[in-house]
Amino acid sequence: MDVLDLPFIRTRHDRAAHRRTEPDVIDRALADPTTRTLVLHRGRLAVVGAGTPRAALLPPSGLPEGLRLFLGEQDGAARLALVLPGDDDPGVPTGADGWAGLRDTAREQVAALAADDDVAVLAHGLAVEAVALAGWHGTHEHCGRCGSPTTVVQAGWARRCPVDGRESYPRTDPAVIMAVVDDDDRLLLGHAAAWAPGRFSTLAGFVEAGEALEDAVRREVAEEAGVTIGAGPGDVVYRGSQPWPFPASLMLGFRARAVSTEVRTDDDEVSEARWFTRAGLLAAVESGEVGLPGRASIARALIEEWYGAELPGSW
Ligand SMILES: [Zn+2]
Repeated sequence: MDVLDLPFIRTRHDRAAHRRTEPDVIDRALADPTTRTLVLHRGRLAVVGAGTPRAALLPPSGLPEGLRLFLGEQDGAARLALVLPGDDDPGVPTGADGWAGLRDTAREQVAALAADDDVAVLAHGLAVEAVALAGWHGTHEHCGRCGSPTTVVQAGWARRCPVDGRESYPRTDPAVIMAVVDDDDRLLLGHAAAWAPGRFSTLAGFVEAGEALEDAVRREVAEEAGVTIGAGPGDVVYRGSQPWPFPASLMLGFRARAVSTEVRTDDDEVSEARWFTRAGLLAAVESGEVGLPGRASIARALIEEWYGAELPGSW
């Protein structure tokens, strides 16, 4: 089967990685009036638009000082991120309407794709990159080997220790997320102990050190629901991915075939896991008994792929 047509994988800008090592790439971008900057503070983005906010793309003049990162180019013009320092509210930058998190702008992304709104799609792609990169800088200010303060190099794509020369790069933590389906074509969904009552989603978990993705799928389903996934090569099939920079995850989506159906949950993480038929899931969602994840999530895409159509409602 073809991979999913996911809303979060349609990038509309060029990361232009070859420019990161150009001398003064940031300074030259700042001198160019066609440059646009996304402004971040404590993981939130300066946005325009109420209700369905999108990341503001601001001209280079008049912005405060902060950590500047090179995100890439669009139509030959540079796109930067500006990370404002400090914990106190720095005030909304000129040209923006307020601050919002990536989960808020993701909702705009789904609407933008439906409306074929390229500007909004571009803003979201840049926003995901900016939030992921800014988050990494926020937690890697010191060398992992000697503890010295590190300096930013490669236009924000690496940090270097001035004492021992060690360089570190933005990291991404792979996580698997899977639609588990049994031989009666039922879907397994789980409810996490920490969630509001009635919330259900696909099972998911981080890939461990030295572990293949397929093995991570099998292990997580066994740990969280006590269900066995088939050992055959077609029993775990890749469906698509979604960057999830909270703080550094990459969600890798799979369809997995269950060869056992008895559910035994691990109370620490997943407190309930249930098999749903299509009619059963629709009825549970329509009655309000079950709430499904938001439309901007790969979890939702995996559920609706199995279902064969859009489902109503979301968290
Ligand atoms: Zn060092």
